[in-house]
Amino acid sequence: TEPLLKVEGLKKYFPIKKGLLAREAGHVKAVDDVSFEVYEGETLGIVGESGCGKSTTGRMLMRLLDPTEGKVTFNGRVLTEASKEEMRKARREIQMVFQDPYASLNPRHTIGKILEEPLIVHGIGDAKERKKKVYELLEIVGLSSYHAKRYPHQFSGGQRQRIGIARALMTNPKLIIADEPVSALDVSIQSQVLNLMQDLQKDLKLTYIFIAHDLGVVRHISDRVGVMYLGKMVELASSEGLYDKPLHPYTKALLSAVPVPDPNFTREQIIIKGDIPSPSNPPSGCTFHTRCPFKMDVCTQVVPKLEEVESGHSVACHLYNGEMQQ
Ligand code: SF4
Ligand code: MG
Repeated sequence: TEPLLKVEGLKKYFPIKKGLLAREAGHVKAVDDVSFEVYEGETLGIVGESGCGKSTTGRMLMRLLDPTEGKVTFNGRVLTEASKEEMRKARREIQMVFQDPYASLNPRHTIGKILEEPLIVHGIGDAKERKKKVYELLEIVGLSSYHAKRYPHQFSGGQRQRIGIARALMTNPKLIIADEPVSALDVSIQSQVLNLMQDLQKDLKLTYIFIAHDLGVVRHISDRVGVMYLGKMVELASSEGLYDKPLHPYTKALLSAVPVPDPNFTREQIIIKGDIPSPSNPPSGCTFHTRCPFKMDVCTQVVPKLEEVESGHSVACHLYNGEMQQ
């Protein structure tokens, strides 16, 4: 089957001035040659530390940001070649949910007006139909029709994220890109919102891209998970494959920090030192080599490619890809 979304060689380079006199032009490789596919009805988690390019990737998929290079195909349409008008239509079917719903909800508008807006933008329905849809969505996300008259500040963080989700659903999208949708919420509220998202996925046959910095959060919601480091995808596998048998040293390190509920299960503990290097001056070869306990000579020279090493499990690391076996 064809994937709903296909991403090929996606890159985003931001120009910067380097050096004391800023004579030398350079660029930050925020996203550097990322490829993946998303199938209808699944959830792809994308995980990594802040600055790894996961949000930039999400924004490029909707062309909120134009890629420097690469191709994005959604539902048979090449979005990276789409005109403004074609892109406007495509945005009915791809919606985003943001980390901070408060920042994305106009404080001077009622919830009813905020939810109605996407319908007006896309010319969907008359006033009566739009109102009906607003009430319907409020109920679906666990709020009530009387909330339509209230303003964003009258809601808790969890309720505001429900409103953000309702807004994303107004145009009956196929794909939701959720960028850290629960990161700003208390742990108890997080699971409520995650449960809601899972229920909605089943009921409305949604496909999710779920972006997070915490592997613990994406574990239960994701069918597959991609791990990003300094603008590259370094590992991509089924959720079980990744958690049971992580291959990339960076993934192993991220998982070392996730508590294991089963006392009989012990995980290889890998502690990485140091901070993420500056993306404006990334290390040569494997960009993880400055922090990797398994670094070999080849790692500083050759960029490892993301290669499938087991069925459905890809990794970009010289420990696995045979570069060393010559
Ligand atoms: Fe570590 Fe080398 Fe693998 Fe990079 S390629 S993660 S430096 S072993
Ligand atoms: Mg981000």
